[in-house]
Amino acid sequence: MPVVSLERLRDMLEVSDGFVTFSVEGETDKDGVPFLHLHVGGSLQLRCQRCLAPVNYPLELSNRLRLVRPGEVWPDEALQDDSFDAIDAVGAVDVLMLIEEEILLGLPPYPHHEYCLLPQKGLGGVGDQSPFSVLADLNVPRH
Ligand SMILES: [Zn+2]
Repeated sequence: MPVVSLERLRDMLEVSDGFVTFSVEGETDKDGVPFLHLHVGGSLQLRCQRCLAPVNYPLELSNRLRLVRPGEVWPDEALQDDSFDAIDAVGAVDVLMLIEEEILLGLPPYPHHEYCLLPQKGLGGVGDQSPFSVLADLNVPRH
């Protein structure tokens, strides 16, 4: 699936080219309880929160979703057990929406490079200016 087709995710990305691959498998456990297994892979270009340049984020998610049938009471274990989430099984499940939701939930809150490339001196970039020079303009009372 092209990344650009995922509208909500696209807003979070610095560059929205490339593809996300996914698979969805259905399963019923020994008690007849239905589950979906989701696997999502690919790589996304997030915006580094320190230098604002694109940062590569390898996407590798898998999750188990407990399908809750219409009229069925939501299982308590869905709230306590971290190994799966629960969703309502109402008619057709929108798989793309489900996949996008999983990706959004899994994104890091503060994406950043391990080492940012700092602007270089002498090229007329912000690197020529001391990061503290802005302080000179502040009229801070001194004791
Ligand atoms: Zn960075």
